[in-house]
Amino acid sequence: IDWTTAAGWHDAQVIPYGPLMLDPAASVLHYAQEIFEGLKVYRHADGSLHTFRPEANARRLQRSAQRLALPELSVEDFIESLRRLVAVDGQWVPSAPETSLYIRPFMIANESFLGVRAAHKVGYYVIASPAGAYFAAGVAPVKIWLSTEYSRAGRGGTGAAKCGGNYASSLLPQVEAYENGCAQVLFLDAETGSHVDELGGMNIFFVHKDGHLSTPALTGTILEGITRQSIITLAKDRGLTVDETTITMDDWRDGIESGDITEVFACGTAAVITPISQLLGSEISIGNPDAPAGELTMSLRRELTDIQYGRTPDRHGWLTRLDA
Ligand code: PMP
Repeated sequence: IDWTTAAGWHDAQVIPYGPLMLDPAASVLHYAQEIFEGLKVYRHADGSLHTFRPEANARRLQRSAQRLALPELSVEDFIESLRRLVAVDGQWVPSAPETSLYIRPFMIANESFLGVRAAHKVGYYVIASPAGAYFAAGVAPVKIWLSTEYSRAGRGGTGAAKCGGNYASSLLPQVEAYENGCAQVLFLDAETGSHVDELGGMNIFFVHKDGHLSTPALTGTILEGITRQSIITLAKDRGLTVDETTITMDDWRDGIESGDITEVFACGTAAVITPISQLLGSEISIGNPDAPAGELTMSLRRELTDIQYGRTPDRHGWLTRLDA
């Protein structure tokens, strides 16, 4: 769908996948005026195709657009864009267990000029790619890497938006994580350098001995994950308390050492829930690389995937059927 200041959104079309033609002066290439979303289409046992909480992705895209001075796309147009894609690409939604069609809606500024200002010409696109099971060999706990040299987002910055620039700044620490045998980077807040924020592409939760959960509060520097929000709801349904609060590195270390923290997990659309066995850093090691996946971690993961794949009733009305 194209957008200009004068005409608003217009010319929605479905075209075969292929390269985009961009002018070398297109503003997205120079100033990263770009935002995106990520969601999945799940094939249920009866063959029907469903996505999970697309209104939440639509509203997050609107918040990201607001922060990046991009135009707002309505929730209806966002969901219609998913339907139009599935109408032509539905056959690519795989049916093997835990597989899906990953959908990537994105919005880019594509006006050609070299001054620094918000563009008057924008494009919104949706592409898709079949995704295999994230843990093909069974869910295995991962190690994560503490980035102390780099931060992801500062107060007033773009941390709460899903924009390409945030990921650009996390690529180098991600390389460091891989070099140290870790799956993802953990970022602390930029202001104090001691509060746990989130991972490069996932939110984080702690399970405590008494059964309650804690997760970093949304302070404006953290992406408001839709999986995070869903886990909070499912945990509260079970009568568990969820504290959205400040969690420091000392809380984490002391919690593991005293046995108050019994499980740590990360969550996001791609992996749903990933158990975390150990946090490593240049001067830190918390947890045990051989720690098994936690019981509550795995039970919440099962509940969420059962809803997504239609194996259990969708009591919160989280699924939207896209092929009917
Ligand atoms: N934080 C970051 C930085 C992310 O990229 C993601 C993935 N979108 C998440 C958290 C988790 O968000 P969601 O549950 O909506 O996928």
